[in-house]
Formats: sequence, structure tokens, C-alpha cells
Amino acid sequence: MTLSNPLLQDFDLPPYSSIRPEHVEPAISQILEENRQAISQLLQSQSAAPSWQGLILALDELNARLGRAWGPVSHLNAVCNSSAMRSAYEACLPKLSEYWTEMGQNRPLFEAYAALAKSPASKDFDVAQKTTLEHALRDFRLSGIDLAEAEQQRYGAIQMKLSELSSNFSNQLLDATQAWTKHIVDEAELAGLPDSAKAQMAQAAAAKELEGWLITLEFPSYYAVLTYADDRDLREELYAAYCTRASDQGPNAGEFDNGPLMEQILDLRQELAQLLDFAHYGELSLEGKMAESTGQVLHFLRDLGVRSKPFALSDLQQLQAFATEQGCADVQSWDVGYYSEKLRQQRYSISQEQVRAWFPIDKVLTGLFAIVQRLYGIEIRELSGFDTWHPDVRLFEISEQGKHVGRFFFDLYARANKRGGAWMDGARDQRRSASGELINPVANLVCNFTPAVNGQPALLTHDEVTTLFHEFGHGLHHLLTRVEHASVSGINGVAWDAVELPSQFMENWCWEPEGLALISAHFESGEPLPAELLEKMLAAKNFQSGLMMMRQLELSLFDFELHATHGDGRSVLQVVEAIRNEVAVLRPPAYNRFANGFAHIFAGGYAAGYYSYKWAEVLSADAFSKFEEEGVLNAETGRAFREAILARGGSQKPMLLFVDFRGREPSIDALLRHSGLAEDAA
Ligand SMILES: [Zn+2]
Repeated sequence: MTLSNPLLQDFDLPPYSSIRPEHVEPAISQILEENRQAISQLLQSQSAAPSWQGLILALDELNARLGRAWGPVSHLNAVCNSSAMRSAYEACLPKLSEYWTEMGQNRPLFEAYAALAKSPASKDFDVAQKTTLEHALRDFRLSGIDLAEAEQQRYGAIQMKLSELSSNFSNQLLDATQAWTKHIVDEAELAGLPDSAKAQMAQAAAAKELEGWLITLEFPSYYAVLTYADDRDLREELYAAYCTRASDQGPNAGEFDNGPLMEQILDLRQELAQLLDFAHYGELSLEGKMAESTGQVLHFLRDLGVRSKPFALSDLQQLQAFATEQGCADVQSWDVGYYSEKLRQQRYSISQEQVRAWFPIDKVLTGLFAIVQRLYGIEIRELSGFDTWHPDVRLFEISEQGKHVGRFFFDLYARANKRGGAWMDGARDQRRSASGELINPVANLVCNFTPAVNGQPALLTHDEVTTLFHEFGHGLHHLLTRVEHASVSGINGVAWDAVELPSQFMENWCWEPEGLALISAHFESGEPLPAELLEKMLAAKNFQSGLMMMRQLELSLFDFELHATHGDGRSVLQVVEAIRNEVAVLRPPAYNRFANGFAHIFAGGYAAGYYSYKWAEVLSADAFSKFEEEGVLNAETGRAFREAILARGGSQKPMLLFVDFRGREPSIDALLRHSGLAEDAA
């Protein structure tokens, strides 16, 4: 097995096409075992006076080997899910969890780090090295290094259980998403839907050898119906199916219910926090974040809420008035998207569908690359002849003055058995190896855009373009790092609530005339986006931004309160209710179970951290305001941003990096102004 197991080979890029589920468990088990042995040998050899090379670089090497095998497995599980791959993946989760807990509670390893941090040599360490040690010592503490043995065991058991529960949460959500479809044979039922959406539904039907159209709960399909379907009952039916996924309500009630998992996850997180002497998980989550206290987070969110609510109420009033004119006197949750789109069209005569024609994927990519090449002084070219997990996947190389910088994969389109949403995954970290070789970074960028249909190129909505820029911003943060120490290079070691700075920052270019000129060209005529259309888009940009802000604040407050008050006797639903009383301007129906699909906080890394999006938006808006002052394609400002923020990753505190770039601490003004929520705009 060893010889033929691709996960155990030494490779540059993963041999995706030859990785089989049966390779997974043997490879991971073997690597974990070999790493354990290597670490114990390493500790013996380093026991007298640990050195950077002997300890940290040696451990980096072992971690990298584990990451080289596990990274592709976890990636395939997300983008090419199958029951066999899923079982193989899951079989490894407890082993990995056990391994990481063991490392975090490894006393001799902790002592070696502590000795290195106190050694005379450490005085000469650079800032990235010092931060590496500081983070490591903090993580030992958060892994329970100071706990008594019985408590350490409990800690390990909790971590293992949490990793299993999170994985179950994701699986049930994916299964629930796939379990529901609606087969349409009479096209009249799809009245109002754009051709592109219908074409995709026809493709989905054909893939199952059905006539007509198939509506699914994958996001592009859900979004199209809620935004365009004239049939109110159809919208309501789809809304109900979508917002009850993996719950005790809706068409598949009880079948994939995440409810009990959520309570268990929250209980265990609370117990974990208390083991480590924190009052609650909210407090634990702030360790290593930019925000300094739970009070600061809650105040930040509530302050934004107070400022935004009048705008949201006015948005809703205008929507209701418009809907009433159209014959809908009681706007419900499944009407909001539909009438909002109609109102947007009436007010600005513009629709997401209409602008698609100007955003064919290749033009968008060429334009995106041109923008970042200009700002950051890099070159990007497409590579061919690489191994992949799907024929749609593309690979690109970034270089700088002829020197290789990094590579990224694009997997852009929605398809069956692929997890929804969009994300960047740092597939390989930049680091300098013990032998002095610079290992360059690799990133996976995954989206779920509407695929090409009817022989046309894939045409993106402006929202999709924005998502692409967002994920690419994460990618650049990972790829343009100048840090050579694995644990703080790229996005590693970056405070969670600052990690969205580079991504949200990139979105700004989708709204600037100079940026749009580069990323748009009609797919048939090649003409750039007409100035008139651009003006309308800009006018429409902050359409309903009050409602959008309140929705984000609702999610952020719900997440933070849930983790900061768990154990006070309230159920998840009761917390949802309390937060809605505070911030919701439109009440969703009682059966709504959005929390059961809130994977960010139950299956991702955003627990008690969803506020990070808003927090980082303050940073990104304020950082961008410097470009507004100095020119949005100003190469000098671009270089300054790159060197202050992108290049330095997790090597220093985010506030320090921000101040280095902006010359002062962040202010909320730019965000309010960009969102049309500044007081003088009321
Ligand atoms: Zn992001």
C-alpha cells in the first residue's frame, strides 16, 4: 500500500486524479504515527538547548507532510463529495483531533518552546519568529497544557467530539440540500425567471434524465426563484424548503435535523471554555483576535445597529409601499427578494440578469488580473498540463520580475456533490525549509457560480464578480506573503477578525469605474459596460443597504450572544427570537430554522466570530479610502498596501499593520459612507 499510495508520495501539486478513498486512512494513520516518533526523537535531541532549526523548522516539516496528505483529502471531500470519500475523511477526523490535542498537551514539547523563547538566541529572532513562539505558547495554554491530567483527557475528548459533530452538521446540511428537488414540466410555472436560470434548471433535469426543469436548493437555483419567480406559491415553497434544511420543520422535517447537534456543540464549547478558565466560549474565542473584549464586540455591533436601523425601516417601508402598488399588501420573507428586484428595476432600471452579458468569465478574470498586476507589481499566467479533480478547474501562476511567487487553482462553478458557497483554502504555506529552500504557497479558490449554458461562456452577475474578487483577496493574502515562517505566513496566524480585511478590500474595485472598465465587455459585441449602465449600478449600489446591514448584524449578534450566554437556560430558538426582537425589521415565519444551516458557526471557524465580517469591513473600507484619496489604481498606494498588510500576514498584530498603512487607527466613517448609512445621507 505504501508504495502505491499517492498521499504518501512526495509531490509538488497533489495527484488529485489518483487519490482514492481507500488511500486516505492508511496514509493519515501512517503519517501520524511517524510524526509522533519523529517528535519524540526530536525532543530528545533538542532537550539540552532547543534551536530554531532543530525544533521549529523540524516541526514545520512534519506538519507540512501531514498537510500535504490531509489538505487534498479535505479538499476533495468538499468539492467531489462521495459517500466513500466522506467515510474515509470522517474516519480520520478523530485521529487528527487526538493527534492535535496530544501535541497541544505535550509537556516536553511545550517546555522546548518555552526554553527557546527564553534562550539568548531568541533576542536576535526577527518579528515573525517571535510571533511564532508567542502564538505557540498561547496555543499550548488554550490546548490545556496547564490542566491536571483528568481535565486534559476531558479536553481531548471534547475536541474529538466537536470535530465529529461539526462534520456531521456539514454532512446533514449537504444531504438536506440535495434531498429536495422540484420537477417542473409546465414552463408557465417558471414565469418571470431569466433564461439563464431556466437553462440551468433544464440542465439539472437532463442530468437526471428528466424532461423539463429541475429546481434544486443549490444557491443559484434558490436565488433565481426567490428573486424572479412570479408565482408566489412557488417562491414560498422554495423559501420554506431552503430555510428549514436540516431541521425539525419543512418538507424533510426531522430527517437530517441538525438541532440536537447544535445543542451538543454549544454545550461542549461552553465546557471547553470553562475548563480553560474562561467565563464562556465568547471569551475564549477572542483569544488571538483583534477585538479586546466581549463588551467591545457587543458594543460595536449594537452601535452599528442603532445607526443603521432607521435606514432599514425606511428601506422596508419603501418596499412595502411598492409591493402594495403591485397588489401585495403583506410582504413576507419570500417576497422580499422578488419585490426588491422589481423595485430596483423600476428605480434604476437595472437587474443582476441584465448586467450578466457584460461579465463573461474570461473578461472578468483578465480584468481582475490586470488590476492586481498594476497594484501589486505581479504577473499572472495560466498553466496547463496539471493533475486535477474536475475538468473545469484551472491553474495559474503568480510571478514577480520573473521570479515564481505562488500558484492558485480556480474551481468556479456550482455542480452536484460540491459544497455550496465560496472559499479560499491555503493549500500550501510559504516557508523556508531546514535545508534553506523556499517553499512557495499554493491556494485553492472555490466558488459556486452559474456554469456556462447553451454554448455561451459563463456569464457572471455582478454579485458573483464581487464574490470572485473577495475570494481572490484572500488568495492574495495567502500568496503574496513575504513571511518565511509557516505558522505566520500568508493567512496563518492572522487574527480571525482581521482576516476578511484583504478580501472585502478587493471588492471595492468591482464598484470603481476604472476597475469596471477592465473587467467588463459584452460577451457578443465586446463593448465595455455602457457608462449609463454603470451609473445605474452605482446609484443602485446602496439600494436597501440598511436592510442588508441589519441582516448581517442579526447574524453577528445571534452568533455572539449564543456563545456568550449559553447555559442560561435559553434554547437556540429563544436566542434567535431575542435577537430578532432587538434588530429584525421583518419577522420571518415561525418555521424558519436558518440556524440549522448556519455552517459558518457550527461547522466552520466562525463560532463567536461571525462579527469579524463587520469588524474587518471597517478596516477594509477605511484602507480603501486611502485609494479613494490617492487614486484607485495608484501603484504606489497598492505597493504600500501589499507591503504593510498582504506581505506581513500573521507576523504582527493587525492594528499595528493597519496603522502602518493608514497612518492612524481605523475609523468607522468610511464604512458608513460607502454603505450610504452616514447620517447626512438620511
Ligand atoms: Zn472571506
